[in-house]
Amino acid sequence: MDFTSARKSMVEYQLKARGIQAPNVLHAMEKIPRHLFVPEELQEYAYEDHPLSIGCGQTISQPYMVAIMTELLELKPSDKVLEVGTGSGYQTAILAELAQYVISIERIHELAEEAKKRLTNLGYTNIKIICGDGSKGYPPEKYYDAIIVTAGSPEVPESLKKQLNEGGRLVIPVGGANLQVLLKIIKQGNDYLIEKHTSCIFVPLIGSEGWRKIGEN
Ligand code: SAM
Repeated sequence: MDFTSARKSMVEYQLKARGIQAPNVLHAMEKIPRHLFVPEELQEYAYEDHPLSIGCGQTISQPYMVAIMTELLELKPSDKVLEVGTGSGYQTAILAELAQYVISIERIHELAEEAKKRLTNLGYTNIKIICGDGSKGYPPEKYYDAIIVTAGSPEVPESLKKQLNEGGRLVIPVGGANLQVLLKIIKQGNDYLIEKHTSCIFVPLIGSEGWRKIGEN
């Protein structure tokens, strides 16, 4: 299969055609070999317009969702980013192309280890993967210019808001187990500006500031 052409088509027909405009996002998604982030037997579907299973009951998000969330973060090359929900590490790689430093937290040890290996093999040196509960953020490295949560939360975790730099952006799906709304929260002084974006469906954020346990949602 010609993965390079598949990637170009994904950018043209799934991303640009649906309104993704940021050149840095489009460039990163055309560059990164998404098929290397999915199990071998699913590689031929890696550039299609839907999520795919990555094992442990988790998914790699649909390309459009990765693109819109990344665009909303408005990343600059000097930014420090926190990602909650490493999964396959694909979104992590996109962030690492656009920002200076990325810390990514994954609660499932096996996924965190696989993502770490994959990203090291691809040559990334500006990523730190942590295994743990990212619903409360990662205080040792606060504050962050941008925080992205790639799992659905019943509400916006207070700890994540508090770990934003002034002007920092938090992008997070919030709502029930079967449907969420993508929120963008911007820290402005003591206030937080909230923008509502598209509807979405994510696996649950499980943790002390998300869903308390599997099955609660
Ligand atoms: N961004 C990923 C990618 O590109 O493959 C997709 C992430 S998947 C939709 C959501 C991930 O969030 C899962 O791997 C899940 O284990 C993880 N997760 C759920 N709750 C979490 C938590 N409290 N802290 C860290 N990771 C969590």
